[in-house]
Amino acid sequence: MEQIAVKGTHDIIENEALSYQEIELLLRSIAEVYGYNEYRTPIIEHSELFTRSVGESSDIVRKEMYSFQDKGGRSITLRPEFTASIVRSIVNSKLYATSDLPIKAYYMGPTFRYERPQAGRYRQFNQFGVESIGVRSPFVDAEVITLGYNCLRALGFEHIVLKINTLGDDGSKEAYKTAIKEYFSNCIDKMCDDCQERYKLNPLRILDCKIEEDQQYIKNAPKMEKYLSEDALKYYNKVIELLDELQIPYEKDDTLVRGLDYYSDVVFEFHYFNAEGKSIGALGAGGHYDKLVNELGGGKLDGVGLAFGEERLYSVLKEEKLIPDYHTQLDFFVMPITENEKTQAYIITDFLRNLGFRSDMCFIEKSIKSQFKTAERKNSLFAVIIGENEIQTNAVIIKNMKTQNQQTVYLKDLEETADKLFDEIEKEEAHHHDEKE
Ligand code: AMP
Repeated sequence: MEQIAVKGTHDIIENEALSYQEIELLLRSIAEVYGYNEYRTPIIEHSELFTRSVGESSDIVRKEMYSFQDKGGRSITLRPEFTASIVRSIVNSKLYATSDLPIKAYYMGPTFRYERPQAGRYRQFNQFGVESIGVRSPFVDAEVITLGYNCLRALGFEHIVLKINTLGDDGSKEAYKTAIKEYFSNCIDKMCDDCQERYKLNPLRILDCKIEEDQQYIKNAPKMEKYLSEDALKYYNKVIELLDELQIPYEKDDTLVRGLDYYSDVVFEFHYFNAEGKSIGALGAGGHYDKLVNELGGGKLDGVGLAFGEERLYSVLKEEKLIPDYHTQLDFFVMPITENEKTQAYIITDFLRNLGFRSDMCFIEKSIKSQFKTAERKNSLFAVIIGENEIQTNAVIIKNMKTQNQQTVYLKDLEETADKLFDEIEKEEAHHHDEKE
């Protein structure tokens, strides 16, 4: 019986995988331009890492983690996000004590959350993100936000909406929490079940509720601004000033609280709205954390992070036609005319591969016409034909699939000719490029 993929997961294959490669290459190169280094951490972690960091009151820990007991009886979780793992790796390696701060990490890979699958929401999805750890400074927050903004610009997005807010420091957060609790005490029993749960665990998260009927209560809730300490307000204003300096547009949004418990001070989200004003949810999001490193055993260090969801980036780029249709391609497709030339075709294919050309051959016994069809479907730039005659003369026929020009090439000249053919193609492409400009 045909097996199907697990609900909420999806395959990224062939042409689509090429688009993901392009997106990742670009994001990676921008992170490196900003001085970030790659971190690769395990997909599995002790469950406790996430309960301690992402937090008992978050949706992720309460209901979305893929957790299981391994054969040694340990509680293990497939990572629902990267920040906790990156911080753990920095603490374990003691890098925070031996490196110049901040430590700047970037990462990419699959993450897992047991959510209700819908457009832009998967149970296994890929994140790309950065963390800058070890220096408490509005310049660090501004740098991470700027990097995120420039990633989206480089990918081709034009109308990016950057929402920004501050949750304040400890003092501000506590004072605000008390005010929020008092305000909602009168109406919480009329609100949704999730809000009632949040009221007990983390009342600030009520502001994040998307249920229409609850908005009438939320819109009149006290605003954070009134409860901010002088230091927290100064910090926030400096981040805003730096964004202004770099002409990065933003919208202040005092209902933005983010779903992970470790955030404090500045938090932000990047959104994209299509022509009908629709959004599939945040493309990326992040914020500042001041206790996470300490909580995981690494001393009192602040950090700022940001994560993009690659599936969301890809789906919006595709929908808005901001990404070309990439096609898998070959340089050479080698075609033996009969079974007698198959071994020679195999040797020639291997020779071309060793020169670095993307090469493949026909393994199935097929007419030459049908082999040409395969070469076309595989988007091969050249076909290499080998018949009895070519075997006897130590040669091959190379045919340009676009121009249909063909030439006989002796094996002793094959490397030189192949190089020349590709030089010509490059020159032609450069010429087209110049003409377009
Ligand atoms: P978060 O760690 O919740 O701040 O998520 C960071 C980014 O990951 C979001 O802005 C989304 O782009 C992406 N993301 C989060 N959850 C999902 C999901 N279930 N499916 C696809 N992308 C997601």
